[in-house]
Amino acid sequence: MDKQKEIEVVGLMIEKYCRGNHGSKKGELCPECKELLEYAKQRREKCPHGDNKPFCSNCTIHCYKPDMKEKIRLVMRYSGPRMITDHPVIAMKHLIETKREKKLLEAKKVD
Ligand SMILES: [Zn+2]
Repeated sequence: MDKQKEIEVVGLMIEKYCRGNHGSKKGELCPECKELLEYAKQRREKCPHGDNKPFCSNCTIHCYKPDMKEKIRLVMRYSGPRMITDHPVIAMKHLIETKREKKLLEAKKVD
């Protein structure tokens, strides 16, 4: 998944989480969630996998510092299932990519 698209998806998920949990308006983020999004962007910029990496949960999360990891995990848990109804195409792609990556990671562990 390319960088731009991935950040877009993360942004959508954080926005959804923020609206549902922090009472933010559509298209707006509270300071805490804004910080999280900025952090996610930074991490993605520095990601050694470049554009050739599947989405987030199997990879990105491992390079987050603990408190940010916890936050993004909550965001994913909340927004992940809800993405299916709001953005079915993005959500399905995400799901497939994540599953495929997980299989690859598990296969590597066996080696
Ligand atoms: Zn928020």
